[in-house]
Amino acid sequence: MFETAIAGSLPKPSWLAETEKLWPEWKASGAELERAKADATLLWLKVQEDAGLDIVGDGEQSRQHFVHGFLARVDGIDFEHKVKMGIRNNRYDAMVPQVTGPLRLQGRVHATEARLARAHTQRQLKFTLPGPMTIVDTVADRFYGQGLAAREAKVKLAFAFAELLNEEARALEADGVDIVQFDEPAFNVYMADARDWGVAALERAADGLACKTAVHICYGYGIKANVDWKETLGGEWRQYEQVFPALARSSIDQVSLECFHSHVPPDLMRLLDGKDVMVGVIDVASDTIETPEEIADTIGSALRFVPRDRLRPCTNCGLAPMRREIAEAKLAALAQGAALARARFGA
Ligand SMILES: [Zn+2]
Repeated sequence: MFETAIAGSLPKPSWLAETEKLWPEWKASGAELERAKADATLLWLKVQEDAGLDIVGDGEQSRQHFVHGFLARVDGIDFEHKVKMGIRNNRYDAMVPQVTGPLRLQGRVHATEARLARAHTQRQLKFTLPGPMTIVDTVADRFYGQGLAAREAKVKLAFAFAELLNEEARALEADGVDIVQFDEPAFNVYMADARDWGVAALERAADGLACKTAVHICYGYGIKANVDWKETLGGEWRQYEQVFPALARSSIDQVSLECFHSHVPPDLMRLLDGKDVMVGVIDVASDTIETPEEIADTIGSALRFVPRDRLRPCTNCGLAPMRREIAEAKLAALAQGAALARARFGA
């Protein structure tokens, strides 16, 4: 009961990459960089286990960014000539690669870190991939959309990416991954598109998987652009309300959402009937460490809308831009809070 996991990313140690940055520069190259990525992956597996998390991951130590890490191994993407683009409905500018030709995987994307993690932990292993709609919102398309209206262009590109994601997801399952999670922060920005075709593209990406499948939908990392955006969303954040019914009807097993310190009305979780719900009990936009009591309280309020055996305490989002010692303390708090909730709400 109350199995704990993180959303996905963890801070990179200072010897691996620049710290407290979303697109950090690596500190090494070639074989030395590969060794450093592997070392960081092992380090975070140990920290997650020691904290007492039930489901662990690679902390995304081998990718520079949660979307671009996948794209780096895709033919048809020009990484040499990045362009500045407003992403997440122009919430912030990012330097994004361009789609210039037919998309094709060059080979495996995440085999090294997935197999490394699998070989070094007995716990359930979750692995994250970007969702098709969020990828489409984080690249500049110069190829698929030729001659199409904006919406048709996006749908076509999203399904092209969904094919590639499915190929990698099936391979991750073969590597021994227990849960494949797709990250779709774009679902909270383009709600009508998410409902109309985003969930279908997601299902295409997860097609045929026998392992558990999950989707993470959030209000973003704890960076200033996101904190400022949240200020404009008003007293009640009802974005999930438009997408959850479509997700409840979908083949996806688990949904990860933002809860603690958000203005999401907790009763929206009712819309996820039949799904496992990863409830965000850790705020990624604050360095204050949650107390076990606060975490158990958040779990208690979610229990009014999510059955006990469906509720999984989680972080609101990834911890990548955070200071390492803060992230470590938050992982420990997450496990302690879930333990307290088990004592409080257990049978
Ligand atoms: Zn997130």
